[in-house]
Amino acid sequence: MTDMSKVELLLVLALYYFDKGKNIDKFTAKFNQYFKKDASAQTILYALSCFKNVDPSNNVSGNEKSVHHSLWVEYIEQDKLQELKELYTAFKKGAFSAPVEEKNQHNDIPARLTKPGQVVTIVDVPQERPKSYHGKDGEVYPRSKQVVVNALLAAQYQCEANCGTQLFKRKGSNTTYTEAHHLIPLCYQNEFAYSLDVEANVVSLCPNCHRQLHYGANAEELLKKLYLARCDRLKACGIEITYEKLLLLYR
Ligand SMILES: [Zn+2]
Ligand SMILES: [Zn+2]
Repeated sequence: MTDMSKVELLLVLALYYFDKGKNIDKFTAKFNQYFKKDASAQTILYALSCFKNVDPSNNVSGNEKSVHHSLWVEYIEQDKLQELKELYTAFKKGAFSAPVEEKNQHNDIPARLTKPGQVVTIVDVPQERPKSYHGKDGEVYPRSKQVVVNALLAAQYQCEANCGTQLFKRKGSNTTYTEAHHLIPLCYQNEFAYSLDVEANVVSLCPNCHRQLHYGANAEELLKKLYLARCDRLKACGIEITYEKLLLLYR
């Protein structure tokens, strides 16, 4: 059994596949720093050996049901090598090392800005990257209230995770209450050529799904669902990211 998350296992897979398991100590140190973990080199070696066992070239049988086997099939056999490589490169480069944190966690808007029953037209085009400013916690990117208002309205104040939760009414408004979440956190704006503060990058979520994305142990499924629903729109806005890289941002 393993208590590693999918993105962690993918990195170990990449280490096995691309680097042939070299530099275990270096990898372990970086891994721990990145994921704020305290894994030993033995733990990494054990995970590596699991991938070794599911590598068909090693002729070991009996692992067809393991998570390692399914990751192997998905990434190595089914043509997602490039994505795996990109993920590994990003990890090694340490590009995505800023903490995932949203200053205004609820991304809330005043009730007066909600417009029940209105229709909003959103055109997904690349927007100029906003300039950062120095806040008290370092570099911060401004966020537009109008973008949040538009995104919630476009989702008709429903939870885009389609979780089926009964939504309560917003105080002072006739709309249901949902929260705006930036799928690619704004703190990674530096990594992207165009603005992340666009409607295509903002999803409307019920409080429970929103918290799950930030704090849940099994948020990967939900993240993937939202990613697949938005990746074409993000592309139209000049924002390209693989699901695997997005996962790294939510470690
Ligand atoms: Zn959020
Ligand atoms: Zn929900």
